Amino acid sequence: MDKIKIVDLEVFANHGVFEEEQKLGQKFLVDAVLYTSTRVAGKKDNLEESINYGDIAARITKFLQENTFQLIEAAAEKLAEDLLLYTKGLEQLTLEIKKPWAPVGLPLKTVSVEITRGWHEAYIAFGSNMGDKMGYIQQAIDRIRMHPHICVEKVSSIIETQPYGGVEQDVFLNGCLKIKTILEPLELLDFMQQLEREAHRERVVHWGPRTLDLDVLFYDKQVIESERLNLPHPEIPKRTFVLKPMVEIAPYYRHPVTGQTMKELLDLLEGIH
Ligand code: AMP
Repeated sequence: MDKIKIVDLEVFANHGVFEEEQKLGQKFLVDAVLYTSTRVAGKKDNLEESINYGDIAARITKFLQENTFQLIEAAAEKLAEDLLLYTKGLEQLTLEIKKPWAPVGLPLKTVSVEITRGWHEAYIAFGSNMGDKMGYIQQAIDRIRMHPHICVEKVSSIIETQPYGGVEQDVFLNGCLKIKTILEPLELLDFMQQLEREAHRERVVHWGPRTLDLDVLFYDKQVIESERLNLPHPEIPKRTFVLKPMVEIAPYYRHPVTGQTMKELLDLLEGIH
């Protein structure tokens, strides 16, 4: 990916744990690496197609002067979020905030925090088989759309599917979403679980009826095995009700572990070769 770099932008601001730091202020130096495609701007020689580094430098300065943080970790986190939300075409950024006058009483050149943050692509599966199923699903999609750190890019058709897992219950409505998000995987899971709770989902019977089920299917091409989160979702290759809507919105998306496309996985499950 192409980069636009800002090096050692000097900002006088009031961040620090000590009262004097917040009262008197001190010098900070900011490095920003903006990951974006400069191809079109380069071909057309047109600033409108690129990120204006003057605007970014002004925004960084204003942000650091109008807010006060105890930690440069917090300043970097909030500033990265602000820039990613505000800047069209900015996919990722690396931000370093340096504090050359850090009051540690020792002769150091500078201390700094460097973070890399960006937009991620994720797929979410949704399902409901209790009560006002369509209402629960619509409400969940609306809530996801309203989240400031999520952009919904595609929504599949909502399909009716037969229950699985051998428990006697009503038919399901299922579908999936493609999103872009600046949330980390566990934060995304937390939000999905919050929406499930809001839909008064009761976990009575495993595989049993549910007002709302939200699963994170994929997050970039990341593979995660942890207590709370497995990615890609382990059941994907076995679930027609996930693969059908995935084939509709991303037929050639490849499972990062098996290497098969959604279409290939569905054909395999349905016995078509
Ligand atoms: P269920 O709602 O029945 O699909 O299961 C939810 C449980 O699965 C929760 O305890 C989650 O922490 C866990 N889990 C693991 N991986 C995922 C994932 N990719 N998406 C959603 N839940 C997951």
